[in-house]
Amino acid sequence: MGVEVNRSDASGGEIARFEHPRGSELCCQSGCLRTHGVRCNHIDGRGRRCVTTWCPDHWSSVGGIVYCRRHANTIVAIGGVTNAPLALPDLDNRGPSLVNWVYGDIDSGMQQILTDCVGTGQRIVRDSAVTVVFDTNRRRFWERSWKLLDAVGNSVHRITVAVFEANDALVILRVDDHSIAQGVPPWIDRHRRRVEVTPSADELQRKLFYGFLLEHVPGALVDRLAVHAS
Ligand SMILES: [Zn+2]
Ligand SMILES: [Zn+2]
Repeated sequence: MGVEVNRSDASGGEIARFEHPRGSELCCQSGCLRTHGVRCNHIDGRGRRCVTTWCPDHWSSVGGIVYCRRHANTIVAIGGVTNAPLALPDLDNRGPSLVNWVYGDIDSGMQQILTDCVGTGQRIVRDSAVTVVFDTNRRRFWERSWKLLDAVGNSVHRITVAVFEANDALVILRVDDHSIAQGVPPWIDRHRRRVEVTPSADELQRKLFYGFLLEHVPGALVDRLAVHAS
């Protein structure tokens, strides 16, 4: 075990001191030749452990535990392993981390839309983490929501980003329990087709995808309000 002392903070004080493991594995990052990598600690719901190994420059750590980047994102998305052991996806499933990623990217746009819809006494509440849910056919999916609550805390509407375990590339946006828009994010589509684009093209494609998701929300909320009123 090696000891790493973190850099000083801006005020010159030492901000943390903790041990990092030192392994003897070749880092999996393409082009990285370091040989003191350690293995990702993620174990899925079936007891299988991730086989990838990473050096300190290329691993991610959550709560002091080393993971590959994908599994670190998964653990963060579900709010920690001990929080939700049943929410852990299979090793190769990107569901929870994709939900969290998209939720974070459209969060401010969604809050703007919802703020325009908030009635007197209503408020918006954001889920703090991704949760696992089973539909009526016992199909597993992950979701994270914004909720519109009335004055006494009852849910008026719920807008949800969801990804099914069986199709972990498809992002579904729901209002209450109705799917209003769905699509495969451009970066996943490109990865599948082995296409690369410039950073500015990537940014534009992401913007268009998120705009496509968000533009369906106001109309869907109006429709749901009409259903409530009838
Ligand atoms: Zn590396
Ligand atoms: Zn991993």
